[in-house]
Amino acid sequence: MLQVLASEVCGTDVHLHHGRLAGVPYPIIPGHVSCGRLLEANGALSDVEGREIPLGSLVTFYDVFGSCGSCWHCLVAKAATRCPQRRVYGITTSATDGLLGGWAERIELKPGVRVLPLPEGLDVLDFMGGGCGLPTAFHAVERAGIALGDTVVVQGSGPVGLNAAIFASLAGALRVLVVGGPPQRLAAARRLGAEDVCDVTQVTDPAQRVRFVLERTGGRGADVAIEASGNPSAVVEGLEMVRDAGRYVVVGQYTDGGEVSLNPHRHLNRKHVSLLGCWGYEYTHLYRSLLMMARHNARFRWRELITREYELTEAGQALEDMARLSVVKALIRPPRVD
Ligand SMILES: [Zn+2]
Ligand SMILES: [Zn+2]
Repeated sequence: MLQVLASEVCGTDVHLHHGRLAGVPYPIIPGHVSCGRLLEANGALSDVEGREIPLGSLVTFYDVFGSCGSCWHCLVAKAATRCPQRRVYGITTSATDGLLGGWAERIELKPGVRVLPLPEGLDVLDFMGGGCGLPTAFHAVERAGIALGDTVVVQGSGPVGLNAAIFASLAGALRVLVVGGPPQRLAAARRLGAEDVCDVTQVTDPAQRVRFVLERTGGRGADVAIEASGNPSAVVEGLEMVRDAGRYVVVGQYTDGGEVSLNPHRHLNRKHVSLLGCWGYEYTHLYRSLLMMARHNARFRWRELITREYELTEAGQALEDMARLSVVKALIRPPRVD
């Protein structure tokens, strides 16, 4: 049992609130990535290196459970994030099944849920400043296979896009360009090392946004593009921003935003592009991204991405602010009961 210290409000929560995600067993307790203090345990808990995690430890946990490790997806395809048994705290868990969401004072950790102590030097707000965007973007950057010296364009400047910009730099990108908005989020992108930004709230013509990238890449396009915007039309735009034989990872379309049309000849075949989807993240992405955060926190100061903290009773307001993009990272913080 975890005493919740903070849980995040992310774009997915807004989609959940609007009923735009399939297969959600409403009513739910939202909040999939959370941080808290280990309150009670049924037996000894240990981390993946076999070290004991004592009661009272400051921890987070991998928010996925139930992935079976024995189905076709898990064993043959080795694509555990597509396991049909996979369930996610705060998203595919019903409130009738227990305290399985972070917008609460307590979270029940199911047997097998992997607990991760926060590394030395990180506190609640550091980790939550990254939130689910941290492992999600880490996974996307891994998929993108960035090479030393690459120019990377990130579409979207929400938490996933900003973390993608961070990990692209750490993966060896020479330059990172961010296409997103509003200005507050782009200011964060610049602080995190984006060489240049394009504000979609000002530059409303998609062709002009493509030119923004082409002008900075010798007319060729970026070596790698990562879509983290959630807007379906961004995918066609991104295919025009990436160079011939480049790589494109789509990680922002977490909900069904509708259809777009593209030109298979021009956008895919002749372009000789690698187009990859990226669904969720595995334990390894959370584990490694957490260690990367601990190593690089002085440089990127994740906690500064937190715009506002809300009481449990202000959850409606938090969702409204997130839907309007007036916050970068929003947290729900239950009252402290010591
Ligand atoms: Zn999330
Ligand atoms: Zn499985």
